Amino acid sequence: MKKIAILHTGGTVSSYYDDKKGGVSTKYTAKDILNLYPEIKHIAKIESRLIQNMWSQDTRFSHYNLLAKEVEKEVKNGAEGVIITHGTDFMHYTSSALAFILENCPIPVIITGSQRSSDRGSSDAKLNLICACQFIVNSNYQGVGICMHESTNDDACLILHPTKTRKFHTSRRDAFKVVNGKPIARVTSQGNVGFIGKHNKSEDKKLKLKLFDDKLKIGIVKVHPNMFAEELLFYKNYDGLVIEAPGLGNLPTTKLDKETIEHEKILDTLKTLAKKMPVVLAPQTIFGRLNLHVYSNQPIYQEIGLLGNHSDMTSETTFLKLAWLLSNYKKDEIPKLITKNFRDEISPRTSLDYLDYVYS
Ligand code: GLU
Repeated sequence: MKKIAILHTGGTVSSYYDDKKGGVSTKYTAKDILNLYPEIKHIAKIESRLIQNMWSQDTRFSHYNLLAKEVEKEVKNGAEGVIITHGTDFMHYTSSALAFILENCPIPVIITGSQRSSDRGSSDAKLNLICACQFIVNSNYQGVGICMHESTNDDACLILHPTKTRKFHTSRRDAFKVVNGKPIARVTSQGNVGFIGKHNKSEDKKLKLKLFDDKLKIGIVKVHPNMFAEELLFYKNYDGLVIEAPGLGNLPTTKLDKETIEHEKILDTLKTLAKKMPVVLAPQTIFGRLNLHVYSNQPIYQEIGLLGNHSDMTSETTFLKLAWLLSNYKKDEIPKLITKNFRDEISPRTSLDYLDYVYS
């Protein structure tokens, strides 16, 4: 049997209803989870340990480094796959962060969790865990992936791209979808694995950790109507900023009458910020790609140094990639590197089939 290490980090998958706290609480130990789902012991040789019992919304950059080092330990100990049980709210941030950190990852590192706690009849934890084990046992995948329900049925999961996935629903068990791409594979509880999208094999099998600088301060701002320059100025002492821009990459920078005088200040502020730090645009629409060569308000954006033209990365991945680049490369290399593909986070072609992933 293949040897799989399960690293527990908390989230709903490790939770049950706690009368005293009056809510669902992360409680289960690594041993409890194995006892809850003994089936997985028949699929692989499982070693299970607790890293931390936390909610994923409490994640900080230092947690990514901690997790990556634990994965490295497992690789050195001969694990043939790692499963990370994790809260779902920030699961896609962790998958992106680990994909960037773990260069040439020689084994599958599959992140899973559940939308409904393990003490509930409708919990998705069992299928997600079983499918994560089955995928590792029945494929030769290398690198990070997310394993969550394909649909509301209890028959199959999808292995989702670590840098292109997002949580799209607060409570549905099939909340995770790939943005601007396809799932990597479909896996059934019986162990049938069908690859869908392309997946890379790491050529040089030597795992290298490129960690995050946990002192970095990066912001994300969502552009909205009636915006004020001071909202951007708040970030003047940060190391980098991601701006979720509407449409193809538009910003409220046009002064057309006395009501829009603020927009001159917004443009000036962007100029000031872009001189101090990388300021990167990401699509607020979620699907599709930025294009800063369409509207007359746009040429100035690249002139003042705003980055991200032609990017179709999610804002979450843009945020983590910016932090990771600042942690591992020189600041003056960022304009060139932010739209370079490191972990398939940018699609080579714009896909029009996003409706596949929208709920019917
Ligand atoms: N907010 C918690 C977390 O992300 C629970 C949500 C979940 O795991 O589904 O860790």
